[in-house]
Amino acid sequence: MTELTVESDIDPSKMEVSDEVAIEITNMNKWFGAFHVLRDIDLTINQGERIVVCGPSGSGKSTLIRCINRLEEHQAGRIVVDGIELTSDLKNIDKIRSEVGMVFQHFNLFPHLTILENCTLAPIWVRKVPRKEAEETAMEYLTKVKIPEQANKYPGQLSGGQQQRVAIARSLCMKPKIMLFDEPTSALDPEMIKEVLDTMIELAKEGMTMICVTHEMGFARQVANRVIFMDQGQIVEQNEPEEFFNNPQSDRTKLFLSQIL
Ligand code: ADP
Ligand code: MG
Repeated sequence: MTELTVESDIDPSKMEVSDEVAIEITNMNKWFGAFHVLRDIDLTINQGERIVVCGPSGSGKSTLIRCINRLEEHQAGRIVVDGIELTSDLKNIDKIRSEVGMVFQHFNLFPHLTILENCTLAPIWVRKVPRKEAEETAMEYLTKVKIPEQANKYPGQLSGGQQQRVAIARSLCMKPKIMLFDEPTSALDPEMIKEVLDTMIELAKEGMTMICVTHEMGFARQVANRVIFMDQGQIVEQNEPEEFFNNPQSDRTKLFLSQIL
């Protein structure tokens, strides 16, 4: 596990959460063909919440968060994001995609574009932001993730940790209201994990609504206000981090924690 140091006195795990709902999932089910991958998911996430999702490989964590920005389609139940119900209506999907940023395990940067171009592509073409303004915003976020000097390089010239910080900056350039992270540090060498987690901690301190699939339990304790445990397509248990780690309720959670801690 990675040791984390708090650089300022804000403790994200103790930050207030708003009463306003950001995401409401009701009785949601999803199948891949005959395979029932998500079962009866009920989950309400308020603005400013920092949720960590954990669980065994194959339990449906990625599929769940991919449903939230409609990278996957659900077949039953409802998903409402920032007041917009996710249906096959393409207008809504575009709106959701620009409000919900996503960071993947394998960065998914465009290899043939510079770091700056990676960060300005969607704002220019999707949000119709003038190029100069998009570049200024990109430089602001690259500064925030502490790599402004890399702006004119290509992704292949950067370390994994730097590429992942570019991926975070690129998402932020779209000014999302919600950020989804799918195992953002699991493809990184240990010495690079901390720099990415530190970036995520900074975002949490600014009040970003975040859902992070991760097995970095130090991060969960420090940042999350709620930890969700999934197994076999279901939410088995959820609690605030202290309770979740010190007093897990179900046998499946206990077994999982005994394997990773
Ligand atoms: P996790 O992120 O928890 O490891 P996933 O959400 O990726 O789990 O996958 C859940 C289950 O759904 C796994 O059994 C996986 O093999 C299956 N699955 C994921 N994506 C697809 C797909 N596109 N088609 C068919 N099965 C899939
Ligand atoms: Mg996954």
